[in-house]
Amino acid sequence: MSSLLEKEIKRRRTFGIISHPDAGKTTLTEKLLLFGGAIQMAGAVKSRKTDNHAVSDWMAIEKERGISVTTSVMQFNYRDFEVNLLDTPGHKDFSEDTYRVLTAVDSALMVIDSAKGVEAQTEKLMEVCRMRNTPVITFINKLDREGREPLDILSEIEEKLQIECTPLTWPIGMGKGFKGVYNIMRQELNLFTPSKDRRPQDSIMVKDLDDPLLEQMLGSYADRLREDLELLAGAASPFDHKEYLKASQTPVFFGSAVNNFGVKELLDAFVELAPPPGPRATTTRMVSPDEEAFSGFTFKIQANMNPAHRDRIAFFRICSGKFTKGMKVMHHRLGKEVALANATIFMAQDRTNVEEAWPGDIIGIHNHGTIKIGDTFSDKEPLKFTGIPNFAPEHFRRVLIKNPLKIKQLNKGLVQLAEEGAVQLFRPTMGSDYILGAVGVLQFEVTMARLKAEYGVDAVYEPVSYATARWIDCEDRKKLDAFKSKNLAHLALDAEGHLAYLAESEWRLGRVQELFPEIVFRKTREHS
Ligand code: GDP
Repeated sequence: MSSLLEKEIKRRRTFGIISHPDAGKTTLTEKLLLFGGAIQMAGAVKSRKTDNHAVSDWMAIEKERGISVTTSVMQFNYRDFEVNLLDTPGHKDFSEDTYRVLTAVDSALMVIDSAKGVEAQTEKLMEVCRMRNTPVITFINKLDREGREPLDILSEIEEKLQIECTPLTWPIGMGKGFKGVYNIMRQELNLFTPSKDRRPQDSIMVKDLDDPLLEQMLGSYADRLREDLELLAGAASPFDHKEYLKASQTPVFFGSAVNNFGVKELLDAFVELAPPPGPRATTTRMVSPDEEAFSGFTFKIQANMNPAHRDRIAFFRICSGKFTKGMKVMHHRLGKEVALANATIFMAQDRTNVEEAWPGDIIGIHNHGTIKIGDTFSDKEPLKFTGIPNFAPEHFRRVLIKNPLKIKQLNKGLVQLAEEGAVQLFRPTMGSDYILGAVGVLQFEVTMARLKAEYGVDAVYEPVSYATARWIDCEDRKKLDAFKSKNLAHLALDAEGHLAYLAESEWRLGRVQELFPEIVFRKTREHS
């Protein structure tokens, strides 16, 4: 193993921020980037969210709804670390996309609004982290506002998210009476001064909590802090790095993103505690990041990154070895060698051509329709990284086009959009309908807008009486054929040609499962 490879892996941190919309993810991202020196100007991330994307119709939907549909990747440097921050769509209708993004991270940061506590989307996203045992650091935000009692929030997190909380900082007061946070690990006090562009001040060392200095600085809040810390010492488990890495414990930080308060403490702890890239599963073996042979997988395809070029970018997570510009790799699904000439790395707002990249880094590869989600590229050995599933859709629509002459474009558009993971496509074995499946209904709207903008197809959709779908499999061909002949009207092929059963209701699905116990009904399907 080369020591350079080892060194580069050790200093990589690749993570995603998860939160319910409005908890402060964008604001926090912006402050993190400020510390990384990646952007100079506060508000830059926000403007990305509202202005630049309006250039395309697809993004117009996003703007109209005030939601973030897209995922971006930002790399920045902090201390000796290279941090890759993967932004995830906060809206629940794009949770499938978020899930795929979370397959490419090594850890997550959870942002919680101190007034709202654990919200619906937080729960869903944490479920994903739990499924994958992703280590999570928690940031409780908006302490400059009146919120819930910190202990209350912690017990809510423990109860609803099934993860043990260990606060590493503790807030002193809140809202108008917010005095600052006490850093339990470092035994330091950070006093709060509201300011949007506050650069971190020196912390004040308070080794002995009985020090009268505490009264001088905090007044009547000093006693409260002592009581709280005593209570915590008895109630909360001490921080255990191993438990955090196993995803059974989450270190908790308090602060105010908009005031840039508590963010530096969070970032420092993050780079110190969060795991560097680790081994990843393939269908044949575990791949360790320090293997010399290059490998990685595509977890997202995004169109319209640059509307002027109508390009599609495949987001690719490097899992092992070193990437060098122009290197040749095997595209195993196609059984072809391809040259990665024009890979891009995303530095905050800019894209720069990448000369070399390391495990944990995300590179963007220009895609002319040959790369699909889940595709593995590697040196020579045929590998296939696992864990990037499609989810059974919960909403279905039939697509109708206004001009039948456009059927070819419609077909092409739908297949490509399905490959990107924007929507799922089903072609019933009987009839010539196109049925779209989605986990969230906004996906239909985005699909129609993009069909028009990118493929020149005017299409509409109408309700169709399906409520759920399962991918079908059976080892016994005869039994599968028998099942197929009896259920023709409910069968469809997805965009990749996999057989699915579409059901009008969960009840109906349950009945069919009872009638055909030898058939396997899958709720998720790995990309092939
Ligand atoms: P996102 O939807 O999670 O990305 O949330 P945003 O970062 O867009 O923040 C939602 C709203 O909360 C915005 O109006 C922010 O200015 C505000 N906000 C973010 N952090 C704080 C904070 O620490 N204190 C207060 N009072 N407001 C905040």
